[in-house]
Amino acid sequence: MSRAAAPQPRQDENPRLFETHCHVVEGVFGDADQVDATLERGRQAGVGRFLVIGSGYGADSVAPALQVARRHADVWATAGLHPHDARHWGPAVEAALRAAAADPRVVAVGEAGLDFYYDQSPRPAQREALAAQAALARQVGKPLVVHDRDSAGEVLDILRAEGAFDGAGVLWHCFTGDVEMMRAVVDAGACLSLSGIVTFGSADALRQVAAQAPLDRLLIETDSPWLAPVPHRGKRNEPAFLPHVLQQVARCRGVEPAQVARATWDNACRLFGLPA
Ligand SMILES: [Zn+2]
Repeated sequence: MSRAAAPQPRQDENPRLFETHCHVVEGVFGDADQVDATLERGRQAGVGRFLVIGSGYGADSVAPALQVARRHADVWATAGLHPHDARHWGPAVEAALRAAAADPRVVAVGEAGLDFYYDQSPRPAQREALAAQAALARQVGKPLVVHDRDSAGEVLDILRAEGAFDGAGVLWHCFTGDVEMMRAVVDAGACLSLSGIVTFGSADALRQVAAQAPLDRLLIETDSPWLAPVPHRGKRNEPAFLPHVLQQVARCRGVEPAQVARATWDNACRLFGLPA
């Protein structure tokens, strides 16, 4: 007597998420055990891979990010100098980043960029550090992760001038522009990553971007510990909250979250040179 097989769940029914921007490092998330527990909560929430940013906490942010990446097979790191720290740019920082960027666990240069909202480093230094890191990314053949706050298009100008779009790719992290800016960034050849800001009540313009951005250029991130999405606003953000970003992006596009999860996973793997 034959029996119909029970319906098998499709293998990709709950595809894993690629967390493409988090600062889950010692000091920011406590000690090494607390860092590991934070990653584990992310995995339990469906995160399959993490990109930990080696930039943003002083001129030597790379070492703590690399430590995490070396401890976990599902974590990779970046190497860069944040615009807040651009006043430290010089031959020593450049040499350290060049060495770190050659590490196989480092899959991108950055985050680098311009932040004319906080202006924590002089603007000329920010410009110089961005241009130099764009050149470095091209030289080492890895993509560049870009931070842009209130630069009024100057980031795009510098990237074009440095030929950044002829290299291994550009990821516009925590994109907050409007649809027009999104089109400019996409036409230039960049990918963009959406953070928990897309869940904020005031972010209608960004939800239009989420709806209209080409799916093959879209990634998702938390930018932990910053920018906790609704319904966690005000708390410290962490990768376990990434599903809220995913669900909001899917809602904007009128598709199933699984579809966005799969596409953003594939896009991230392609950009960072990892097997899907
Ligand atoms: Zn960041």
